[in-house]
Formats: sequence, C-alpha cells, structure tokens
Amino acid sequence: MRMGNRDRRTAPEVGACVVCGSTDARVLSFTRLLQGERVTVCGSHKTAHHRSEMIARSIEELRAITGDRRKSA
Ligand SMILES: [Zn+2]
Repeated sequence: MRMGNRDRRTAPEVGACVVCGSTDARVLSFTRLLQGERVTVCGSHKTAHHRSEMIARSIEELRAITGDRRKSA
C-alpha cells in the first residue's frame, strides 16, 4: 500500500504549481483544463493561463502555454 506518502513528494497535482513547482501556499491557486480538470498553479501561472486566452488540454500544454520551457533544452 502506498497511501500516506503523497504529502512528502512533489506531487504534480496537489500542493505545487504544475508549471514551476512552487510550493508556496500563499501564491498557490488553481486553474482548469479544457475538460474541467482542476490543477494547482501559482498565481502568476494562473494569470498567464488566463491571459493566453487558451484553455490547456493537459498539464503539458499548460506548461507550453504559460511559457515555461526549461524542460526542453
Ligand atoms: Zn508557477
């Protein structure tokens, strides 16, 4: 059984911005993907998502839209 350790790791969906990984609870909020899935983002990435006037279909697309391209070197 693996339940119980989800708080420790950087869970992609809970407690950290899925774009930048910020875990600062003061700035964390959420946004919704195209199909209504709720994902955690920080305030600036929430704003970036809204400003893009697009709705991401996935977390990966959300990252692309909000302009964080560090992962693709
Ligand atoms: Zn962020």
